[in-house]
Amino acid sequence: MTVSTAKDYEPYESLSAETVPAYIAARPALRALIGSGAVTAVREVGDGNLNLVFVVEGGERGLVLKQALPYVRVDPTWPMTPERNGREVRALRAHNAVAPGLVPEIYDADPAWHVVAMEDLSDHRVWRGALNEGLRHEGVAADLGRYVARVGFGTSVFGLGARGHKAAVAASTNPELCEITEDLVFTEPYITHEHNRIPPANERDVAAYVGDPRVRAAIGTAKLTFMTHAEALVHGDLHTGSVLVREEPHSTRAFDVEFAFYGPVGFDLGALWGNYVLAAARAFALGDDGHAAWVLGLAGETWQAFEEEFTRLWPDRADPRVGELEPYLAKVYGDAVAVAAAKAARRVIGFSRVSDIETLPEDLRAGAVRGVLGAARLLLVEGNGPGLFERVGGVLASQNP
Ligand code: ADP
Ligand code: MG
Repeated sequence: MTVSTAKDYEPYESLSAETVPAYIAARPALRALIGSGAVTAVREVGDGNLNLVFVVEGGERGLVLKQALPYVRVDPTWPMTPERNGREVRALRAHNAVAPGLVPEIYDADPAWHVVAMEDLSDHRVWRGALNEGLRHEGVAADLGRYVARVGFGTSVFGLGARGHKAAVAASTNPELCEITEDLVFTEPYITHEHNRIPPANERDVAAYVGDPRVRAAIGTAKLTFMTHAEALVHGDLHTGSVLVREEPHSTRAFDVEFAFYGPVGFDLGALWGNYVLAAARAFALGDDGHAAWVLGLAGETWQAFEEEFTRLWPDRADPRVGELEPYLAKVYGDAVAVAAAKAARRVIGFSRVSDIETLPEDLRAGAVRGVLGAARLLLVEGNGPGLFERVGGVLASQNP
């Protein structure tokens, strides 16, 4: 089908499971990968919100195709630039260069049809689902801390030098997808908005959270930081649904990088932390305090791995006269704490919900939501002292029967 595009884009065909084999045959890089045996199976994956994703079997390793349409997959009335696919390609290449093995390998990029072909990671599973089941994939949190450090260093002025950094900033703007984050994470939950969905049992909790002037001030500051601190080519949407994990052999991959932009390094760490809070809230609600404690311990694991890797890379920076390690790490930590709060809170107030909370039995949900909002408030108001995530755990635990 030819998709009707916004006026500033050339028309192109949207892929379907039926047309994928011919598409692959027409792309030399993909034809070579699949080989003479051709495509043996195509499966459309349905769990993403924005794009078409196909798992293609054939050849030795198969491949995955991801295509952006000029609108949001789950809501075709919501226009969205297909150029986001090219931004994902750019970020995937940059992240593969500095953090190989921690993102999908990229095989081909098609700017005309807004398709990227990448490594098939079907032998992995999405981390959020595993966490929801109470599974413990050891080492993933540290892998992700290392990933954020390698990207945070390698794509920054530290890794690229002054001119390289400026050129990369100019080439990596992502205004439309940044606007989604600005709206959904930092604005809509704090105003009256049609996207918000607040259960009656949590109306007072939400009012107390968004009505706290300290919360509003901290969120305003975090939004400004998001919009203006062009430190590194951050992932931009690093929640636990953007991570694929495999136990044997151990593997961790961050994926779905279309929100990548030059932003604060703490944004990615905070996204992880905020989603650990949501996973812990679920575990407490289900009475699995042991899993909740394990999940909250991941925050420290991610941070420690980040700090160690960043410190290890520090002597290699392009210009030793730029920056100072300890204050920079403290800045990243502070940014991450505020983002953790914003990312957790928006999932229980605003547009895009998470299965951690939504699949809880109805009678357990109000307590979990109350706990998440209490935790977010604690992070924003007193976010820097020792034992931060133990205190978050205390708040979460206190909201459950
Ligand atoms: P969207 O941008 O629409 O959210 P995603 O990149 O998140 O799309 O992909 C949607 C789903 O497709 C993922 O949740 C995952 O299940 C699957 N998927 C994406 N990339 C791969 C891959 N490289 N290998 C295997 N499965 C993948
Ligand atoms: Mg996704």
